[in-house]
Amino acid sequence: MNLRPEATVFELSSPGRCAVSLPKGDTPSYPLPSGLERAGGAALPALDELTVVRHFTRLSQKNFSIDTHFYPLGSCTMKYNPKANEVAAAMPGWTEVHPLVGDEGSQGALELIYKLQSYLAEIGGFEAVSLQPAAGAHGELAGVFMIRAYHLARGDAKRRKILIPDSAHGTNPASCTMAGLETVTISSNAEGGVDMEALKAALGDDVAGIMITNPNTLGLFERNIEEIARLVHAAGGLVYGDGANMNALTGVFKPGKSGIDVMHFNLHKTFSTPHGGGGPGAGMVGAGAALAPYLPGPIATMRGKAFALEMPRSSIGRMKTFYGNFGVLVRAYAYVRMLGAEGLRRVAENAVLNANYLKALVEKDFPVKYGRRCMHEFVAMGDIAEGIHTLDIAKRLIDYGIHPPTIYFPLIVPEALMVEPTETEDKESLDEFARVMRAIAQEARTSPELLHAAPSSTPVGRLDEVAAARCPVLCYRG
Ligand SMILES: *Cc1c(COP(=O)(O)O)cnc(C)c1O
Repeated sequence: MNLRPEATVFELSSPGRCAVSLPKGDTPSYPLPSGLERAGGAALPALDELTVVRHFTRLSQKNFSIDTHFYPLGSCTMKYNPKANEVAAAMPGWTEVHPLVGDEGSQGALELIYKLQSYLAEIGGFEAVSLQPAAGAHGELAGVFMIRAYHLARGDAKRRKILIPDSAHGTNPASCTMAGLETVTISSNAEGGVDMEALKAALGDDVAGIMITNPNTLGLFERNIEEIARLVHAAGGLVYGDGANMNALTGVFKPGKSGIDVMHFNLHKTFSTPHGGGGPGAGMVGAGAALAPYLPGPIATMRGKAFALEMPRSSIGRMKTFYGNFGVLVRAYAYVRMLGAEGLRRVAENAVLNANYLKALVEKDFPVKYGRRCMHEFVAMGDIAEGIHTLDIAKRLIDYGIHPPTIYFPLIVPEALMVEPTETEDKESLDEFARVMRAIAQEARTSPELLHAAPSSTPVGRLDEVAAARCPVLCYRG
């Protein structure tokens, strides 16, 4: 029995042990051409199966996940995703359909795409939807291409600027830059919304459009959204909506009816795909009448009684091979059907209720810079005592078994702590989080060394995050 919890598989290795017993092959074997053979045996660890199982199970338990911990990572919507949707996505009828089988042989998959397009169009208030993009940022890129194509089709090549509020997610300016356009930052007002005077000053005949997030990354509803859209349209520009925060709006508010011309939803955030490990995701884009012909394709349509794939009339083309990330689409379809219109409305209502409940408890110790009623998340500040920073609060939360909130974002809040509880947490978890935050605030005043040393309960302690990102150690060195 080998119970050295911190040992690597190499240290647990004992020559001659083996975890598998394969039957003898019944096909003839041929020697490799000389010169291609390995000089010696591979330096692989030798372990029995049970040791391997215990080792990897133990490693998996060192992770934080929604299935094990409260995970209020603001902007990321780390909510519970029903396991039933995993079962749906794994059904062989979906996983085994070959992408080259053609429309006739994939009617079921096309029907699902067609229906999901129409559900999402209804939820968002769009004319048409494309499920091609693979992530939110990918949807942004598609949307900016569409806006650019629209202006070029009108012979208006000088519109090369996209306006972006200073509270925006970093992907917004990155996507615009990747699309070859120039970004102009618009400041926020004292309420945390777009500064209307700054917006008016920036508008002109060189502006392709604005990219705006609603609710924004402060968790605040942009009350002037219709007026912003009116001003941008009057100046000849178009409105891109970043819909990553749709979890606050489903069934309550249709962004497409507020003047937004094109928008992405993060299906992996709002519509039930576990995420955080880097994918796969889906960043569906929906468009109003002006931009629907430019959507990336193909999109699913109906020809008579059959479903077919078609390119929109003036499509910017493909953003992804085949059907996009199809498994994510199956989960989103199952989620929408499971909840229905009423359930989707409750998602948004409870996400907003949970955030406001938690905000009221937490802001006693951690001030909230823009304190008006929030939507699905709120941004507090962590520099609550001499020498204490948000990073210390975040690391100490790990010791209490809670995944830290998003920190130091959005950039316009100093020492930001961005908390998104999501609708799937019960009152007890929210109360426990508030109790822990209160305890940490107390420690910050009485024993700050605990916070500076945190985390102290984890296999590795406080990391040099720059070195961890720039010079990661990815190989085992004995
Ligand atoms: C997550 C997020 C994005 C980017 O979405 P990805 O799917 O990670 O590419 C963009 N904007 C906001 C506000 C987000 O929260």
